[in-house]
Amino acid sequence: MVGRVHRLEIPTPFPVGPVNLYLIEGRELTLIDTGPNTPEALDGLSQGLRGLGATVDQIRHIIITHGHADHYGLAGRIAAESGALVWVHQGDRDMIQDYPLALHAWLDFLRSFLPETGLEQSWIERFCRSIEKREGCATPVPAARLLHDGQRLELNGTVLTVIHTPGHSPGSICLYSGAEQLLFAGDHLLKTITPNPILQAFPDFFGIRFQGLVHYFDSLKKLEPFPIARILPGHGEEITDRDTRLREIREHSEKRKARLLDLLKQRELTIMQAKEGLFPNLPDGQTLLALFDVIGHLDLLQREGAIRIERRGGLLFAKAT
Ligand SMILES: [Zn+2]
Ligand SMILES: [Zn+2]
Repeated sequence: MVGRVHRLEIPTPFPVGPVNLYLIEGRELTLIDTGPNTPEALDGLSQGLRGLGATVDQIRHIIITHGHADHYGLAGRIAAESGALVWVHQGDRDMIQDYPLALHAWLDFLRSFLPETGLEQSWIERFCRSIEKREGCATPVPAARLLHDGQRLELNGTVLTVIHTPGHSPGSICLYSGAEQLLFAGDHLLKTITPNPILQAFPDFFGIRFQGLVHYFDSLKKLEPFPIARILPGHGEEITDRDTRLREIREHSEKRKARLLDLLKQRELTIMQAKEGLFPNLPDGQTLLALFDVIGHLDLLQREGAIRIERRGGLLFAKAT
């Protein structure tokens, strides 16, 4: 059971555009996601709350759908002002605990890993410098309460079930209300964009690592048993036909996998060459997300035994088996 839900659309400096926050009325206020730590987002939040006759200091609970700065950047600040408790899945706790540290660890990883994809060194450096500028987009949240799969959250009359849906991030969650058949989906399900399997820092391509897209499709399956009438996503419009959207996402990925496999049947490719084959002439700003997508689909193909990946001379090569 949830109280009245209001969507607040807040600007972000990221290519994805504005982010959706959801304010749930109850005896006290609960906020799902916060927007990034920018003056524009804080303004947007304050104005949105004012329009509903509410203020930041009335927020008692902040639930974070996943640890990306556009979703939790203001959490530390709101919590400091209102005393609100912040809730996050344990899988994303490290990401939000100390944002600048987590960001720099991720950049170190990108600097060491990306050359293996065949991406030019000068591009990598330029890109990493531009990401460093995002350092202020989130304030750290040192003491968040941890959520786990299946947990029933009862917050001042609002009852939500936590569904752990790893994929877009390791600790990505959806929040479900059975009484309303309502799902808060974060970035797990969006109406027009397929969520990107953002690459997490890992020491070695072949070592133990979080394979975002492999987890993502397992997480999609996990939602099937739940009756869902409305999906409230982290970006864009509400989704009312869950089954159609799930089918579209699966078909989209199957097509991409088939095209990738076709390319790899013709010849062995570096990850960058596979990216060029799949997404030719992409604007510079989308290169990294496209690479992550290719790696995600390579992971799926590798799991099916359709391809193998080898490291030679500091480069990763993919080839059909
Ligand atoms: Zn995200
Ligand atoms: Zn997002």
